[in-house]
Amino acid sequence: MKRRVAVIGAGPGGLACALLLAGKGVDVTVYEKQTQVGGRTSAVKLGEYTFDRGPTFLNMPHILENVFHEAGLRLEDYLDLKALDPMYTLYFKGGTEQFTMTTDRDRMKETIERHFPGNGEGYDRFMAEQALKLGKLMPILQTRHDRLTDYLSPRVLTALPRLSLGRSLYDVLSDYFTSEELKYAFTFQAKYLGMSAWECPGGFSILSYMEHAYGVHHPIGGMHQVPLAMQRALEELGGTVQLGTGIKQLILNGKVVEGVILESGQHELFDEVIVGADFAHAMNHLVPEGVLKKWSRPKIDRKKFSCSTFMLFLGLNRTFDAPHHTIYFAEDYEKNVREMTQTLELSDDFSFYVQNPSVLDPTLAPEGKSAMYVL
Ligand SMILES: Cc1cc2nc3c(=O)[nH]c(=O)nc-3n(C[C@H](O)[C@H](O)[C@H](O)COP(=O)(O)OP(=O)(O)OC[C@H]3O[C@@H](n4cnc5c(N)ncnc54)[C@H](O)[C@@H]3O)c2cc1C
Repeated sequence: MKRRVAVIGAGPGGLACALLLAGKGVDVTVYEKQTQVGGRTSAVKLGEYTFDRGPTFLNMPHILENVFHEAGLRLEDYLDLKALDPMYTLYFKGGTEQFTMTTDRDRMKETIERHFPGNGEGYDRFMAEQALKLGKLMPILQTRHDRLTDYLSPRVLTALPRLSLGRSLYDVLSDYFTSEELKYAFTFQAKYLGMSAWECPGGFSILSYMEHAYGVHHPIGGMHQVPLAMQRALEELGGTVQLGTGIKQLILNGKVVEGVILESGQHELFDEVIVGADFAHAMNHLVPEGVLKKWSRPKIDRKKFSCSTFMLFLGLNRTFDAPHHTIYFAEDYEKNVREMTQTLELSDDFSFYVQNPSVLDPTLAPEGKSAMYVL
């Protein structure tokens, strides 16, 4: 008989697990409490306009290609991905200094030299050294680490010297660039993790490297097309996605999970259950209190959450000749980041991000209009 697996949550994480399992012949059911797939990667539809709720770009399409490939499918049959060149435009000093980022290494180095003479060499060194760092890190990121001894494997030990342990992301970038703007251009990615570049571990310098090495990609229709593509592929392989079906609790036999209790009260038994919901939510709500002492409610409540965002979804009755992705840095960026992550104040001088996908993608707004996203 086929193994039966339940996945809680139809975000990209849960759907990727489901697709990989379905490709191996497992009988998979995905339970999603919302009425659409995608989670944070879902869509907001307002009248004739469509917006991505959270994510606005895909960085390493080969990882998504691998998920489809492992399931015996081709990503290009499900998704129309466009690589962006330039990747994004950065504005500094109240919008008076503009800087365009590209994956074309010659053009990027030439731009760096023009704006920040003497820093081109640092860019070459950054790209070469981060390639080695990612090469060491990637196999670790793609290996399970569920026992303490996994952290002592030769793979982890040989990677240690490259992980910039004990240094912040900002410190690491200071090894390559003398200009503050350039350091910001290669460290603002810490905000993807809700972190400050001055606190974020230096190992995360791979984030900006990944953008410069693999580019920034836009799926036509928006990022929420990624989970929709996964849902379609999963259903073709015989998997099931039950929308509007929340899970109330896990069914436990001691510490072994044997199934799920739906919000309706119905019990469903499975061989395995994968939780794709937020960890803190799952531990506080899906696991009965007292079962997992390591993740008790008080312990989770003591954890610090990353910061949330203020978003504008603007349906506009005209088009704009503005870049696809633009980031405006506060004049005093360090102060702005400190206010967001340490003193928790609303900044007078804040940074913001604008996405104008209608320059490339006609599906998000009617002709002559545009859908703009501001964060
Ligand atoms: C503003 C913003 C911008 C971002 N920008 C980018 C970007 O540009 N590029 C990028 O790659 N990433 C970006 N991200 C991150 C990306 O959105 C997430 O990494 C990704 O969506 C996580 O996927 P997930 O499946 O782990 O979780 P989620 O997307 O959070 O999905 C979890 C799902 O579980 C469901 N669920 C929870 N509890 C239950 C329950 N009890 N029963 C049933 N269902 C349940 C939820 O409804 C949800 O659908 C951004 C995030 C935000 C918020």
